[in-house]
Amino acid sequence: MTTDERLLRLQTALKDAGLRSSGPRDRLLRVLVTTDKPVSVQELRRLEGGQMHVATVYRLLDDLLLLGRAVRFTQSKNTFAFALREGRDDSVHYLICERCGWSSAFRECVAGKWLETVPAPGGFRVEYHLSVLHGVCKSCRRIGEGALAESRNLTERAQKNNIANR
Ligand SMILES: [Zn+2]
Ligand SMILES: [Zn+2]
Repeated sequence: MTTDERLLRLQTALKDAGLRSSGPRDRLLRVLVTTDKPVSVQELRRLEGGQMHVATVYRLLDDLLLLGRAVRFTQSKNTFAFALREGRDDSVHYLICERCGWSSAFRECVAGKWLETVPAPGGFRVEYHLSVLHGVCKSCRRIGEGALAESRNLTERAQKNNIANR
């Protein structure tokens, strides 16, 4: 699906729910679609240009949440991230770096088909799932490895110095 098609789907969903569209709302929607990763209200505002009223951002996100077209989850302490859901039964997968907050979406799902067949208690039927996978991003891992190598070097040098000093 192209960006425009995805945008149109969201606009249609909002319109069908009787919600009026406006220039600012459409601009925000476009940012959400093109960003394609979880964003906080502040990030979303910044990406849009930083001029938009916070209330406008919150209102659109609330509408999307209510319609099941967005999900909200805790990104870090005190920060919520919002992410789009393409359809009501689309599953959502997000990777979040625990160290720097980097995040990304991914669509491949190995668990979905399996989850649909899981006999959930009480006749419950699984329709979609939201997976937030917490971890460490590539660059933070590199920093981590660098720091580790650095401390190893220091230890080795210290050991060599000790040997040399004996
Ligand atoms: Zn990171
Ligand atoms: Zn999945």
